[in-house]
Amino acid sequence: MKQLAILGSTGSIGRQTMQVLDNFSGDIKPVALAAGKNKQIFLEQVKKFKPRLVSMQREEDARWLRQQLDRHQKTEVHYGHEGLLAVATFPDADTVLTAISGAIGLLPTVAAIKAGKAIALANKETLVAAGELVMRLAWECGVDIMPVDSEHSAIWQCLNDEDSHDVARILLTASGGPFRCWKSEQMAEITPAMALNHPNWQMGAKITIDSATLMNKGLEVIEARWLFDINYDNINVVIHPQSIIHSMVEFNDGSVLAQMGVPDMRLPIQYALLYPRRPAGNAPRLQWPVSELTFEMPDFERFPSLSLAFQAGRVGKTMPAVLNAANEVAVNAFLAGRIKFTAIPKLVAKVMEEHSPFKYDSLEEIMETDNWARRRAEEIII
Ligand code: NDP
Repeated sequence: MKQLAILGSTGSIGRQTMQVLDNFSGDIKPVALAAGKNKQIFLEQVKKFKPRLVSMQREEDARWLRQQLDRHQKTEVHYGHEGLLAVATFPDADTVLTAISGAIGLLPTVAAIKAGKAIALANKETLVAAGELVMRLAWECGVDIMPVDSEHSAIWQCLNDEDSHDVARILLTASGGPFRCWKSEQMAEITPAMALNHPNWQMGAKITIDSATLMNKGLEVIEARWLFDINYDNINVVIHPQSIIHSMVEFNDGSVLAQMGVPDMRLPIQYALLYPRRPAGNAPRLQWPVSELTFEMPDFERFPSLSLAFQAGRVGKTMPAVLNAANEVAVNAFLAGRIKFTAIPKLVAKVMEEHSPFKYDSLEEIMETDNWARRRAEEIII
């Protein structure tokens, strides 16, 4: 039986993972869980699955949780950064699902890799900030990284046992988000409520805003570069509003393989956790005939975040970490009503302009760069 640790069990990916586990209780057992501040959902999960170790972000919430549990329940309760690391490296776990949002996922993911855990990776920001270091470490530690992101799961499935030399390019599909057909001059009026209303996917707030700006697709381009060891020139983004084809791989002979399915994250979560098995799960199935599959090219001018991500990826070194950190600050500021939707890419571009990228060797250098970019982004907003 697979022993699973989950970072971010109360979030969108975390809760959908719990639904997958309901179906496969004989195959996977959650033994360690970490959450942020959502006490009630976490309490239900901890009571139901009885993991051996759990962690909450704040000490007071961890204390509250301990008080709510039956005194006979043998669950160790931790908190804070140390707690997150304890969950990521819990000795009984063989696999860690990284379903936390943002670059805060980087240190626990690295700790899990060093502890020899297989990684089911949802937290794309980890690979954006430090893809080269994380992939090298995974290789050195002999650790598998299994993508959970639906696009990367699709590419993984299309590549299967193919020879990487035969791959001509990756076609990363994007829904285009809620503002796909909006004119540039309308974009400044977009409110957080409008941007949080994604047409096809129910996700956490940060990734939903990133999907509206297309930064999410940009982050996925960088994620794909590292997961599949492919050049940026061979990664193309294609807008596919129905979100039925989750991505494609074109081979040198001209054949294109696509992976299709309903837009439901339980499918890629299940695939990552049960790989290479494909038993029936609880996600709905495609209804045939599928009426419409359409494609268009992205508009880099209306969605400058996508260009910025390609640019940061091509520059490489510490630039993607700066892109990611500045974007996290910008998204939070937009959600808090402090900046306009159209200011998100402007802020990211400004912080990138001020940064002199350098080749990093350590996690500390990445964390320092991340901190600098956050501080600079905050100063520019004020
Ligand atoms: P959510 O915001 O819904 O969930 C984030 C999770 O992380 C929550 O459980 C939250 O806890 C927890 N968390 C946040 N801060 C901390 C902290 N300091 N310590 C411990 N736990 C913390 O995000 P999503 O589930 O949408 O996304 C998670 C990751 O997966 C992101 O990187 C995203 O890009 C990626 N992803 C998501 C997809 C989706 O469909 N949602 C699709 C593909 C990738 P709490 O809620 O208790 O505060």
